[in-house]
Amino acid sequence: ASSRYTAANPKSLAQHRAASEVMPGGNTRSVLFSAPFPITLTAAQGCRVTSLDGRCYVDFLGEYTAGLYGHSNPVLCQAVSKALEGGWVMGGHIRAEEELARLICERFPSIELVRFANSGTEANLYAISAAKAITAKPKVVVFEGGYHGGVFTFAGGGPGPLTAPFDFVLAPYNDIDGTRALLDTHADAIGTIVVEPMQGSGGCIPAERGFLQTLRDWASAHGALLIFDEVMTSRLSPGGLQQVHGITPDLTTLGKYIGGGFSFGAFGGRAELMRRFDPSQPGAFGHAGTFNNNVFTMAAGAAGLREVYTPAAVGPFNARGDALRKRLDAIAGGARFPMQFTGLGSMMNVHMHRGPVRSIHDVAHSVQPLRELFYFHMLEHGIWLARRGMINLSLPLGEAEFAQLEDAVASFVEHCNALA
Ligand code: PMP
Repeated sequence: ASSRYTAANPKSLAQHRAASEVMPGGNTRSVLFSAPFPITLTAAQGCRVTSLDGRCYVDFLGEYTAGLYGHSNPVLCQAVSKALEGGWVMGGHIRAEEELARLICERFPSIELVRFANSGTEANLYAISAAKAITAKPKVVVFEGGYHGGVFTFAGGGPGPLTAPFDFVLAPYNDIDGTRALLDTHADAIGTIVVEPMQGSGGCIPAERGFLQTLRDWASAHGALLIFDEVMTSRLSPGGLQQVHGITPDLTTLGKYIGGGFSFGAFGGRAELMRRFDPSQPGAFGHAGTFNNNVFTMAAGAAGLREVYTPAAVGPFNARGDALRKRLDAIAGGARFPMQFTGLGSMMNVHMHRGPVRSIHDVAHSVQPLRELFYFHMLEHGIWLARRGMINLSLPLGEAEFAQLEDAVASFVEHCNALA
């Protein structure tokens, strides 16, 4: 499969060599790297992307959830064109900022006040820093398999070992007893708990409700602040995954599609906590950032939430994802090797593993060569997805594209069954 890949993508190979002269690994986003070399894309429209080698793929990556609207959604295009005409590095407050903030506060009941950043990583950086300062307790609890940004990746949750200089306590995901024991051990020093209500990068592994409730209860009882990282999962219901579980974090971080596909991050929560950022107050926390209110993000983000991914659109979109995942999982059930699809709604991940998937440990022994083969097989069948097997739906994907994915997965199963 790898030699066919090289033969089919000569221009991408040449591009990778040129890029490697000026960027380590020819790349500036570790997750997009893919041996022997990544494919370079040149264009995108609707639910399709085109490569430098002239191949067209159905986009099932959905830019790791940021691409929910698909490519060049007309409503977003119009909002951005209008912004383009009006000027974009103005160095002042703009009205679209208030509009996007209001839409977010209306949609996520736990977010009474919100502030913007340029990425999910930055949103987490600020939310954690604020929680640490407010509680005046140094330790930050994170979970194995968690991913909160390139410098917030824990035990297999992301691409590398670089870690922001916080005093982290690494706890076992979905393990109530193990986590509670750790929390109790460091009780006096823990001020912050950060958790993804479904681990995304770690492999679409949902947190169990009881586990999240344990974190909520412990944080409330010990004066710690609970942060839900909903950078990816905010799409799963109108009020995010927290609304599905009926569990209210103190702070929430957002990112990805909410900026309409432009650079975006946000953090928000209880008014009493967020007011610490009010610059008119003495001793206010600083939160600056040249591009925090960048015109394109504010305009596209607001148009998207107001007119496209409305609360009414959220349910049906994710229901289609659930139905697709069940069909894919049924196809995987016909494999004579370990294979399954995990996830919720419009987010899913293939795992070459049999049995329950409750933590990164369950999938650590996933059959790696099969996962690689799956990726190349999908590309050969015109499916663009994450190398690690993640699939995120976008709004323009229709039943015909779903059928193409199902056929590709079925042909993979058939192919590997014949080898087995
Ligand atoms: N948190 C989660 C849960 C994420 O999935 C990501 C990105 N994949 C981030 C934070 C970081 O967001 P960004 O890439 O915008 O910095």
